[in-house]
Amino acid sequence: MEESLLTNIPGTRDLLPDDVAVWQSVEEHARRIFAQYGFQEIRTPILEASDLFARSIGGDTDIVGKEMYTFADQSGKSISLRPEATASVVRAYVQHSMHRASAPAKLYYIGPMFRHEKKQKGRWRQFYQIGAEVLGSDHPAIEAEVIEMLLRFFAALGVQSRLLINSVGCANCRPPYVSTLRQVLHQRASSLCEDCRRRTEVNPLRVLDCKVESCQPQINSLPMITQHLCANCENHFERFRNHLTEAGIPFEVVARLVRGLDYYVRTAFEIVSGDLGAQNALAGGGRYDGLSEVLGGPPVHGFGFALGQDRLVMVLDEQWGKNAVWRPELFVISMGEAAFKRSLAIVRLLRAQGIACYFEFEGGSIKSQMRLANKIRAHHVLLIGENELLRERYQIKCMQDSKQWEVTLSELSSYLLGEQSRARKEAGCVPAANESVPSQNS
Ligand code: AMP
Repeated sequence: MEESLLTNIPGTRDLLPDDVAVWQSVEEHARRIFAQYGFQEIRTPILEASDLFARSIGGDTDIVGKEMYTFADQSGKSISLRPEATASVVRAYVQHSMHRASAPAKLYYIGPMFRHEKKQKGRWRQFYQIGAEVLGSDHPAIEAEVIEMLLRFFAALGVQSRLLINSVGCANCRPPYVSTLRQVLHQRASSLCEDCRRRTEVNPLRVLDCKVESCQPQINSLPMITQHLCANCENHFERFRNHLTEAGIPFEVVARLVRGLDYYVRTAFEIVSGDLGAQNALAGGGRYDGLSEVLGGPPVHGFGFALGQDRLVMVLDEQWGKNAVWRPELFVISMGEAAFKRSLAIVRLLRAQGIACYFEFEGGSIKSQMRLANKIRAHHVLLIGENELLRERYQIKCMQDSKQWEVTLSELSSYLLGEQSRARKEAGCVPAANESVPSQNS
């Protein structure tokens, strides 16, 4: 059957104006907090050479093997929609010779990623990630700092999160560990799922990631990498933990937490939320010192994370409910032709001062306009009729406590500007759950 042209592609979705308010708030928070830590935004293309991902993420991963949107362009070159952005950021960093700068680069990105995943709650085929990367430093303190930034971001949004950390070793200590792991997995092959038997051959570290119930007892008793770290990795991991402790950041060491790719070294971490059910990972990251070389570039130290914006928004939608939707500070109701014109001029003036105003052109009775003001949750209503026009004093009503009083135009604008900045300060840009608008006298 032909699919309707008026339906979006499965796994993608439209974010409608009421949805977008939360997304914007999340992005504002990220930009504000990341800037405090010296991060600057980078925007790389959504289209990249397929090999960039095949080499960096690995040809045997689900992402590259099954989930990439790949096609030949008009010249026959294989192109993919990016399934993640770290490889692109590293490519851009090397391509634009940022590695020649003396200081590390602190870069962040916000944008859509594409993976043709199985349909399930919390997974989309076009989803959005916010990520940050520090390129050019291997100091464990920078790892703790990046994590501190990320946790501050979640805390500012009021999201409960837990930090899980591990070390995945390096090119010295991981290969002997991986061969020990493979041996043990071979002995236990009959109790493992088919995927794990395959992973045993291709990349045994990924067995530790398996979510299949029947594999869990086997996996929990496998040798773990933390007991096989070399002295340098041990030392790095200890310094990293100390930096976290000094910054007052609680963490749990989870020996099973691995990033299954060869270029990952040492620190790996995940941030999970209690509020998300099975898909509870909000963000994941780690150190990837070998990535640039895998792509044919110079040695570059790299550390970063990506967080799933869709999942974060799911949590926030639960917490904030309707409160995140755009609310005008002022809803202007006019009565009569002259008042209509004056209202337009007032709305124009207030907007130019930065006050969010709503004006209903279609008019209607005062009663129906009040109903609309209520529905869109305007903070205040301004009434302008013949009488008000003559006296140049207007009736303002606070929708929270129904108090009504008279104001001149300049009183109105200074009152509303004060209200807006107070609400912003109180909320730290977050729509407060119990927003209260004080009366004029308080
Ligand atoms: P990854 O790039 O796979 O390490 O994922 C980083 C974060 O992106 C995860 O913790 C998720 O929150 C999010 N994420 C990954 N894949 C999807 C998807 N298909 N749909 C929604 N969010 C995703």
